[in-house]
Formats: sequence, C-alpha cells, structure tokens
Amino acid sequence: MRSALQPLVLVVEDETDLVTLLTYNFEREGFRVICAYDGDEALLIAAEQKPDLILLDWMLPHRSGLDVCRQLRRTPKTRDIPIIMLTARGEEGDRVRGLDSGADDYVTKPFSTTELLARMRAVLRRASPGMAEEVLRYGDITMDLAAHRVRRDGRDVHLGPTEFRLLRHFMQHPGRVFSREQLLDVVWGHDVYVEPRTVDVHIRRLRKALNDQNAIDLIRTVRSAGYALDAQATVS
Ligand code: CA
Repeated sequence: MRSALQPLVLVVEDETDLVTLLTYNFEREGFRVICAYDGDEALLIAAEQKPDLILLDWMLPHRSGLDVCRQLRRTPKTRDIPIIMLTARGEEGDRVRGLDSGADDYVTKPFSTTELLARMRAVLRRASPGMAEEVLRYGDITMDLAAHRVRRDGRDVHLGPTEFRLLRHFMQHPGRVFSREQLLDVVWGHDVYVEPRTVDVHIRRLRKALNDQNAIDLIRTVRSAGYALDAQATVS
C-alpha cells in the first residue's frame, strides 16, 4: 500500500453524525481519518499525530474553531498543517476572519462531499505536491482521480462509477488479490448488502471497457480467491 495515497485527515467536529458521514466518505476515497470532538482534543491530537490536513469546524464546544485555528498556527509542531474551516456561516466577513486566522480554505455548510474532497485535494496538493497523488498508473492504464478520467494506451475508457471505484482500488494495490467480499466492502461499503456475484458482473464490465480492441487483460481471476490487477495476466 502506498502511504502517499492515504493522507491522514484530522476531522474536528462535535456533530457525531457528520463525523461518521465524513469518515465513511473520506475512507472510501483513500484517506485515513482521525477525529476530535472539541478544540482541546484537536490541539492535542494534531501535535501528536501530525495529520496531513485538518478539517476544522467553526462551531465547537468550549473554544471556537477560529480560536483553535489560531492556536494551531502559533504552535511550531502544527504550524504548517493545512487547515480547511467548516462553517454554517456564509457571511463574507466570516470567510475573511476564517482565512485571517490562518485557515487555508473555507467551506460553508451544507456542502457536497464531492466539493469538499476536491478542496481537500487542492489544499493537499498545494501543501505538498505528490502527497495527494491524483494520477495512478499501471501498465498502459492511467487514471486521473480528480478529472475522473481513465485512459488506456492513449484512448479514453468510459467506466460507470462502480467500475471506476473497482479499478481505482486495484490500481492502488497492484498485484494484490482481493476476494469478492473484500471488494464489496471497499467498493460498495460495509452497510450495503450486495450479492458477492454482483462483483463478477462489474468485473466483467470493467474488463470489457478496458480490453476494447483486444488489449491484454490485466485483471487476473484467481480461482476461488478473487481478482487482482496483474501484468502477468494473459488473455484467457
Ligand atoms: Ca459543530
């Protein structure tokens, strides 16, 4: 597993439902997530774990996100960690105050996860190029995660969202064999009940899309074990 593809995000938010939702979505997108439910906890965890990015809610118990942001910036250990402020406020003045306090970006609730993830990747990319590697390569396949674009040998490959997630998972762990159950967990999530056979259907679609024009099949079927992305795979 390439750790560069799994940035560590500290989510600072006291609304547990939102924390759960964000954690689920971020992990699904390849981030590692740690949580803090108030400002003091956030300051401790940030100094100890040195996350790659902090998502900081403005409205927190005890001390405000704004105050936490200033404190993070004053502390040498946490000074350089990128911060995105989350807030229900939408006033221009608040935005300015948020950015003045040292935040790198500012996202107003309600937000879409897609939008938030795009901002997170942008902030990470600015903070440390290479950290949020957005183009995966394997053999003649390239996968641009930001643009949601897949190409093989220079031509565009059109994938449905499920096939896209499957391929991304394979590209992030080339050569590794995943069982149908593991793929279900990663691609569909733990909370969804899907027949393991469904995986076969989507693998078939993925192969069909990738192997247009008789290209070599890079997806290996491992009998009774599962599937892998593998350059050793041959046309079968
Ligand atoms: Ca809050």
